[in-house]
Amino acid sequence: MSKLPAAAPFDFAGSSTAVCDAVLKLRGDALHAELGRIAACLLASPQGTFVLCGAGASCAPASREGRLEKDVQVDGRCVGRYEVTGRAYTLDDWRQLEGLAALTGTLLQMHGLAQRTTHAYAHMEAQLAHQSQILDQIHESVLTMDRMGYITSWNKGAEQLFGYTALEAIGRNILFLYADEDPTPLDAFPEEGGRMMEVRRRKKSGEVFWASLSLSPLNDLEDHPIGLIAYLTDITERKLAEERLHHLAYYQELTGLPNRRLFGRLVDQSLTVAQRNETTACVLYVDINRFRLINGTLGRRIGDELLRQAAQRFRNALRDEDVVAHLAADEFAIGLFDVRQHFEATTVAQKLQAALEAPFRIEGHDLRVGASIGISVYPQDGQDAETLLRMADIAMERAKENAQNPDKSVAFYRLDMNQGMEQRMKIESGLRHALGHGELVLHYQPKFEIASGRLVGAEALVRWKHPTRGMVPPSEFIPLAESTGLIVQVGEWVLEQACAQASIWQQAGLPPFRLAVNVSAREFTSSLPDRVASTLRRYRLPPYWLELEITESTLMHDIEQVIDIMDCVNGLGVALSLDDFGTGYSSLSYLKRFPIDTLKIDRSFTTGIPRDSSDCAIASTIISMGRRLGHRVIAEGVETVDQIEFLREAGCDEVQGYLYGKPLPACEFEAALRENWLLVA
Ligand code: C2E
Ligand code: MG
Ligand code: MG
Repeated sequence: MSKLPAAAPFDFAGSSTAVCDAVLKLRGDALHAELGRIAACLLASPQGTFVLCGAGASCAPASREGRLEKDVQVDGRCVGRYEVTGRAYTLDDWRQLEGLAALTGTLLQMHGLAQRTTHAYAHMEAQLAHQSQILDQIHESVLTMDRMGYITSWNKGAEQLFGYTALEAIGRNILFLYADEDPTPLDAFPEEGGRMMEVRRRKKSGEVFWASLSLSPLNDLEDHPIGLIAYLTDITERKLAEERLHHLAYYQELTGLPNRRLFGRLVDQSLTVAQRNETTACVLYVDINRFRLINGTLGRRIGDELLRQAAQRFRNALRDEDVVAHLAADEFAIGLFDVRQHFEATTVAQKLQAALEAPFRIEGHDLRVGASIGISVYPQDGQDAETLLRMADIAMERAKENAQNPDKSVAFYRLDMNQGMEQRMKIESGLRHALGHGELVLHYQPKFEIASGRLVGAEALVRWKHPTRGMVPPSEFIPLAESTGLIVQVGEWVLEQACAQASIWQQAGLPPFRLAVNVSAREFTSSLPDRVASTLRRYRLPPYWLELEITESTLMHDIEQVIDIMDCVNGLGVALSLDDFGTGYSSLSYLKRFPIDTLKIDRSFTTGIPRDSSDCAIASTIISMGRRLGHRVIAEGVETVDQIEFLREAGCDEVQGYLYGKPLPACEFEAALRENWLLVA
């Protein structure tokens, strides 16, 4: 090689452009031929070739007489070889060929790289297009959102499901698709793993539909969470089918009421609450009398309509929290919870029977039906719905057999409960009758001021002048009237009667005194002040003639509402006193907020005075506390002079009791007033 003649340096300008062009534009044999031609040109040789490695020649640099060879390498790997022949070559020629081989290697490498990159991009683009095609083809709607819930992509499925195009949806917050539920904050989703749920969403048309929603986290290349991918499928059809199935499984198709199975579940759930709160619950089994006869003679269509209407009447007669179920044909069941006394269930039973009293007008027929009702009581008769229902059914059969009038028959499962019930039902229906037939009367008991001995008022006390039993004291019918709600009518009658009597005394020229009327907790509602005002107006009675006595149990209801009602009564100029004070659970902190004029010490404390030291202590405490709070204090049930002496010493203002006067009918009270009590002053 050292004998090779000198040659011109490698012609970069000409040859490199030519090699570049060749590498860029040619492939295969054409490229190899062109490279050979360039080599021949560069070295002014008659013959120049470019052979691929492995095509026979060894890949080692070589130079022989009249011949030059040089391998072309890419990344240290021989990819081909230049060969020029036909003249004597110098070292410079060798360098020229070496330069050409190096340039060719570099260009082939760069071109290969560029081609691979271009190919990779093209591949990626194709893949993306492919993916979005797949996304658009699938029926599910797929969308992505950022961490704030702003939509970042929206496929064709989403367009079809919601009716919004990608243009309309992308960039808006996902909340615009929500139907009614509280949006779940996106932060609450786990960043690892997905989450499936069933949700309600709104379409562009406004239609709300059920969708199954699957959320999975969307991460960037570094695996940082950047949002969520949501897959939604319309499942409205399935939901409706499920609802239909659920309805069929748990409701009677005819009446739409819960069936036996749902009744069992609802009752069992409520019993666990009753057990926790230690309250009573009752199950009523209702059988509609004469239904089978009607169904058999007039046909099933009329029978069905009768049951539908009866179910509606039952539902309307009861409170929302009572469970009403339709068990089978003409059998219904009622669940009553948070019952204070088991006999409240009889009131409900009577309500149900009353609801059936009006005839059913169906297709021109006037149909009359009644009901036999059996009652079982939790926890005595059973601990679960199934047992209670069975016991109530037995009681219902018994009620039907024994009653003279099966339409009105009610029976408890336990015989001892029946005795009390019959008595109570008799009193209740008797009391309703008494109200309408003038059997109630008022007696009046005087109240005196201790210091002056003057008569300052009287308490109106109701009595029932029973046609056979004589005078029935209120203790025998007021508690029952309270539990049945009849107390409201009794109370209305008492207020009316007391005001009428006060007006007569006013017109007869008697000096004014406060006539106290007892008002039960159930009457103490927001309509009371208006009723009092209109009664006073009707009798042209100044408000200082009237006083309302309420008990501590009244105060245990909604305190703010009670205070409002009290303020209204006060605003009318009518006094208020707190009856039976000391027997309830009045919170002392509330006591100062009530606008009360008088505290009435309960008779049970007065009785023990002066022997029982704790009664004395209680009475003295009530007196001093009442005085400090600015109330007057009266003691009821005063029967002895000792009692009055003690009360005077303790600072009590007024007294009421047999020592001074028993409750008397109006005319006797007036006579005593004129003859004795007015003289006291
Ligand atoms: P109350 O409002 O605490 O009435 C006082 C009761 O004590 C009355 O009994 C009265 O006759 C009795 N009494 C008064 N002084 C004496 C006494 O010196 N010795 C004894 N042994 N008893 C005395 P009554 O009339 O039987 O009334 C009992 C309860 O019935 C009343 O207690 C009241 O809570 C209720 N009541 C009476 N009339 C009505 C009414 O018109 N409406 C309402 N809601 N309840 C009424
Ligand atoms: Mg009273
Ligand atoms: Mg009292």
